[in-house]
Amino acid sequence: MDSISSNLAEIRRRIERAALDAGRDPATVRLVAVSKTKPAEMIREACEAGQTLFGESYMQEFLEKREDPVLEGCSPEWHFIGHLQSNKIRSLIGRVSLIHGIDKLSTARELSRQALKHALTADYLLEVNTSREETKYGMRPEEVETAAEELFALPSVRLRGLMTIAAPDPEAAELEFRELRELLLRLRKLAPRPEELTELSMGMSSDFEAAVREGATLVRVGTAIFGWR
Ligand SMILES: *Cc1c(COP(=O)(O)O)cnc(C)c1O
Repeated sequence: MDSISSNLAEIRRRIERAALDAGRDPATVRLVAVSKTKPAEMIREACEAGQTLFGESYMQEFLEKREDPVLEGCSPEWHFIGHLQSNKIRSLIGRVSLIHGIDKLSTARELSRQALKHALTADYLLEVNTSREETKYGMRPEEVETAAEELFALPSVRLRGLMTIAAPDPEAAELEFRELRELLLRLRKLAPRPEELTELSMGMSSDFEAAVREGATLVRVGTAIFGWR
């Protein structure tokens, strides 16, 4: 079995090549190592290989792992990438640097309420259902611009960009990545502070190179680093 450190080196190399192919600076793409269901020892190993940014999806698991003594001295930066119910949001305030999966106005409102209460600013991404599959979370692309005015007015939160989980078919995925990038550009035109809207979280183990070519700034890779779940 390949080691976590050699997997990471290989993923970084592929990200770099995809970025250069598209005429992008590879430094504009950050790798989110998705460690859900994997033990803290594996996060430690990735940390020792220079990986600092990790993504978790399950609240209880995340809250336990971040306190794990195995991670002492490693101080990972955490992103929460899972689906979020409003009643769980409070647990994330001040514990993650970015929340990827806000998929409804009501959840964004709750995030704003909780951040305000804790006197903190919370950064988040809006999840968009670009594949329009019924089983997927996310706002429909056409809903995003309608919601924009209210989203930009919410206190104590900063919308930093968009996130999607693309369809499994590579050709469909490529179109979805492009659609997400175009949606971000339109959203910037509506934004009071467009310079804050910089992030496109797209691409996973099976499709991150296409996502990078289409403008991803955050790729969320789990299996290709840590193995099958
Ligand atoms: C699990 C997960 C990933 C990582 O998927 P892999 O195919 O293992 O790379 C990325 N994004 C989200 C939202 C996830 O839940």
